[in-house]
Amino acid sequence: MQQETQTTSIRIARTRDIKKWQSTIKEVAQTIKNNPAKYLQSAQDKVSREFLYVYNPKANAIVLMPGIAYCFTRFSQIIHKLCQQYWTDFVRKNRHNQSYFSDDIDLQQFLFHQSRQNLKILESILIDTQQGQCFYCHKALKNNIEVDHFIPWSKYPIDTTHNFVLTDHSCNNSKRDYLAEELFYEKWLERNQQHGHTIEQEAKTIGFITNQQRSETISQWAYQIAIEHEDLVWSPEPSIKLRPINPDLLPQLRA
Ligand SMILES: [Zn+2]
Repeated sequence: MQQETQTTSIRIARTRDIKKWQSTIKEVAQTIKNNPAKYLQSAQDKVSREFLYVYNPKANAIVLMPGIAYCFTRFSQIIHKLCQQYWTDFVRKNRHNQSYFSDDIDLQQFLFHQSRQNLKILESILIDTQQGQCFYCHKALKNNIEVDHFIPWSKYPIDTTHNFVLTDHSCNNSKRDYLAEELFYEKWLERNQQHGHTIEQEAKTIGFITNQQRSETISQWAYQIAIEHEDLVWSPEPSIKLRPINPDLLPQLRA
């Protein structure tokens, strides 16, 4: 539909061809009913456990179990973000899709038309702590500033201000969901040691969650897990890009 209506905006697609929009919605609803809705509750043990909703293939609607609507509302933000994150990863990992994605497409932005506006506000807070340079490659940041989750969002899906660093587009896009190579872990700890208090003071005024201790515990945990699993880490050096993590380069972590 995006291709036919030549737009990535759902709002515009909806108004441009209302009939097409309605039939697409109907088709999507049918697909959801026949596939995910049928299997969603029994994913783990393959036995139907109706705890989210009553599934009746003949009915025209899905009826939520008591309390579920409350939980969906209460946790909608995190459910929403997790779904988007995992769906993006799923689409990206499918080998049939590989040829469509060049390095400069932001898939999540394309799929969900996400506004990065709320993170934009962090730029003014963080730019001085990095002397106006990309956290990873040190190139000067001009109009290409992006806010990167130092510990990737897919590993820990809660935004805490000390986890953010500023990067240029090419580093942010190439790092994706990988941990940055070891030296950046040290650099990030130093940044927070030096500027953590200022970041906290300024972030509070714009309503961001800050907890430096927790950010650091999470980063420690993420690198520890990476060592245990012998994960790959990302390097801004184009000739390296990805390589196995080397625990010897993480003295802080071992201490
Ligand atoms: Zn860079």
